[in-house]
Order: sequence, then C-alpha cells, then structure tokens
Amino acid sequence: MTASKVLAGARVVLPTGIVHDGRVVVEGARIAERTYENTEIIDVTGHWLVPGFVDIHSHGGGGASFSGTVDEALTALRTHRTHGTTTLVASTVTDDLDVLARQAGLLSELAEQGDIAGIHFEGPFISPCRKGAHSEKLLRHPDPAEVRKLIDAARGRAKMVTLATELPGGVDSVRLLAEHGVIAAIGHTDATYEQTVQAIDAGATVATHLFNAMPQLGHRAPGPVAALLEDERVTVELIDDGTHLHPASLQLAFHHAGAERVAFITDAMDAAGIGDGRYMLGPLEVEVSEGVARLVEGSSIAGSTLTLDRAFQRAVTVDGLPVQDVVAAISVNPAKLLGVYDRVGSLEPGKDADLVLLDEQFALKGVMRRGEWVVHPQLR
Ligand SMILES: [Zn+2]
Repeated sequence: MTASKVLAGARVVLPTGIVHDGRVVVEGARIAERTYENTEIIDVTGHWLVPGFVDIHSHGGGGASFSGTVDEALTALRTHRTHGTTTLVASTVTDDLDVLARQAGLLSELAEQGDIAGIHFEGPFISPCRKGAHSEKLLRHPDPAEVRKLIDAARGRAKMVTLATELPGGVDSVRLLAEHGVIAAIGHTDATYEQTVQAIDAGATVATHLFNAMPQLGHRAPGPVAALLEDERVTVELIDDGTHLHPASLQLAFHHAGAERVAFITDAMDAAGIGDGRYMLGPLEVEVSEGVARLVEGSSIAGSTLTLDRAFQRAVTVDGLPVQDVVAAISVNPAKLLGVYDRVGSLEPGKDADLVLLDEQFALKGVMRRGEWVVHPQLR
C-alpha cells in the first residue's frame, strides 16, 4: 500500500497551459496519472500548483553556505527547500584552487546522495575588472589544465563553471567544458560583443546573472549583453530581487530572449532566509542591511538574500509577467538546462512529486519534494 494523495481544486500550471480546477495525483514519490484506493484528497481550491523551483546558482542560505562543512551545506539547502527550491545547484565562490577542489569533493557527495543537483564554480577564472564580491588576489586566468583539475575534483558532479572568456585560455576552457558536458557560463566578464560571440560559438550556453558584473549595453559597444540576449543557444540568468535589476531591464531580457531562454536564480548568500547582519562570502566579509548584501570593503553588491518564492511572487505581482512565463523561468528552463527535465521541472505523470502551492497573492503555502511535504500547507 502506498500513500497516495490528490491535490484537487487548484489552478495547475502545466507546460501546455493552466488547468482551472485541476488536480495533481501523488503516488509515493512520483506524480501519477490516476488515483487508487486509500487516497487522501486535499482540497486546495483557490491556490496555484506549480512545479518545484530549480535554482542553478546559489551560494547559501539560513546562515550557512555551500563553501563550508556538510552540515552547513545541508542547512543552506533546507532553507531554500522551505522556500520552494526542490532542485538546487550549489555554487562556490573564488578561492584557492586546492580549497575549491576539496570543497568540490565534499559537495560531490551531497550530489551523489541526491541532495543537490550538482556544483557550479563561480570563479576563480573571472575578470579583475568585474570581480564583484570575489577576492581579487585569488583570481586566475582560465587555464584549461586548472579548469580540468576542478571538474575532476567534482567527480562527474560539476554542472557549470562561470568564467570571463576573454581572458587568456578562456575560449579553450569553454571548449574543454563543453567536451566534458559541463555548462560554460559567461560572467564576471569584461568581454566585448565580438569576444562574447566567439565564446558562444565555442560552446558557452549560459549568461551568469545577465547585466550584473559585465559591461553595459552601449550604442557603439553593445558588449556581452547584446551577444548573450540575441543568441538562441544561450540561457540568461536573472536575479529578480528588486536590487540587482530594474524591472525594465528584466522585461527587456524577457522580450528579447523570450520566456524559454530565461532562468531565475537567487545567487543567494548566507543571509537568505535569515536577515540582516554580518556574514562571510567565501573569504570575504559581507554586511547585509535591509536585505541587501554588500562587501564590507568596497561596498560591491555581494550576492542576494533572495529565495525563489519571493522571486516568483515579485515576477507576477511587481513585474507583471504571465504565470506561465514565470514557471518557465523558475522551473522548466533550468531543469532542461541541467538535463533533468525528464525527472523534474513540470507537473507531469512519472516525474518526481516536487511541487509548490501558492495562494492567490502568490505567497508560498506549501512545498512538496519527492512526495513528502517540506512545508505542510495549513488549509482552512
Ligand atoms: Zn554567484
């Protein structure tokens, strides 16, 4: 006997459209086609049911980071789960190669257990001109041999490497990553338009937080933004926290790339899900005030305190994006990018029962991961 549940009466967002008064059947850990005996009917009338969120860029949360111990990584992971992220790629920040290799070994075990979906290395192969909250003295040129060392340390669990592809060794490193099935992401870059096109042609497929930590769009120097937005092979990451991007810039990205090429990320640091205070981002100290994280030294924005439930709500209620487009950017596209869309990213039978329940104001009311409630909905 398996515990089956039917969530009934909600507006269910499917890849094919929104089903009013829809239902989702959960059989064990999976979404099922039909119901059996012993079914628990849960009335979720007046709510939205959307797929669990997929975050491909997150450094931490809940006061802990993915650059620390296993326990700290699990704290960060659980924090994001309670905010609807059921699939997460753990991001590191620039550090010594040996430190990163050790961290990759630790995170690869979490990936093997199915806790995280893989590892994203943000730095050290980035531009000192666009270093953001990365330690300048630890930055390096993207030497393919060193890139190789990092992905080997991740034991098949490296999913993405963010690099400034205009640096010496950049394009060769992109080729190496593409050959190994690791996403090459262009970011923290000072590249020109032409250099960006060259990197995309070499196999780069993601823009790390488009607009942030790269030259801005200019009429004679369109820079990386134009190249990344126009090329259909590229998915652009956006941080929709109201701080990193003006709503009009977000709209511009959606209009130009189309909803199928946008991925919402948190780029969250330790303070996500907690609040203001002093934190560490890798080796650097960060002050969080009114939800905005800045380096203590230099005051550069240092990641976000965003969780994807807030990004979802903001995208619909502030940015005015259609719900279907938000679901594409927050679940469907990142799942496809990671190559896990056969298991997660939509509410289709056979997939993992990863789902988020939202009320009419798009506030999070429940989270289910693999058939188990992470956040149990309190329904009247
Ligand atoms: Zn980041």
